[in-house]
Amino acid sequence: MFFKGLALTSALGLSTVLACPDHDYHSQLKTQGLRIHKRQQGAPPNWTYDASIDWGRLSEDYSLCQTGTHQSPIPLTVNQGLSLRHNPIFNNYDMEAQGTFYNWGYGPAMTYAHPEGDYSALPSFTFEEEDGHNETVHLSGWHIHAPADHSVQGDKAKAELHLVHAGEEGHYRSVLAIRIDPGNVESTFLSNMPELISYRHTEERVNTTSNPRLALDEVSHFNQFWTYKGSLTSPPCTEGVRWYMARNIMFASDDQMQQLLNASHFSSRAEQQVWRHQINV
Ligand SMILES: [Zn+2]
Repeated sequence: MFFKGLALTSALGLSTVLACPDHDYHSQLKTQGLRIHKRQQGAPPNWTYDASIDWGRLSEDYSLCQTGTHQSPIPLTVNQGLSLRHNPIFNNYDMEAQGTFYNWGYGPAMTYAHPEGDYSALPSFTFEEEDGHNETVHLSGWHIHAPADHSVQGDKAKAELHLVHAGEEGHYRSVLAIRIDPGNVESTFLSNMPELISYRHTEERVNTTSNPRLALDEVSHFNQFWTYKGSLTSPPCTEGVRWYMARNIMFASDDQMQQLLNASHFSSRAEQQVWRHQINV
């Protein structure tokens, strides 16, 4: 689910305009008023999705990937029912939030801009945790996996959108997951950025805006969902993440799906054993 490029810090402020061999594509983006920047990258990760069953052996820092009691993703089924608790109450999701769009190395992604350490102006939702206290989390960005991380009834969707939310002090705290599959309609969320969804460049980022409400609209604002206590789905597999999986699916046209897959690499962690996940509890 997470990766080196999804730091919970503002990525705006970079100003290097790139010379890139893909002039036509970048000209096209620039005529839309989009600015292209060099992306700051750290060292490449020492793990791969191809070998996700052995992440725990790569580093002591990744031991939770092997020993954790509520690791993600897990298989979801209709037999588990749907949640009657922890309903997300959306506060200010309907906004053209500013940020930077890029390819996280596995697919399209966006990080929303905010002042250092201050997430308060970002879209947010509030939910009741199991001990009864209400918690508000803020949308720090989103990214897309292909194929999906989670299966439902044994089936994996072609892709899965993760809307990543930060809790206090910027910790990853909750993820809204939406399955994406081909259907008979275009996805409005995806069509809102037609030039970007097929963006394959991993070393550049584009300043733009996107309205996350468009994603919620396509899954009835999570009126039906599974929820459980899980983890990051990439090293270090940190736990303490409340997951929501929408029952509804975001449908994309064949063309959108093909563009999306063309910009994606395999990024689905092996499913984990259900243990202390408290599914829908
Ligand atoms: Zn993810």
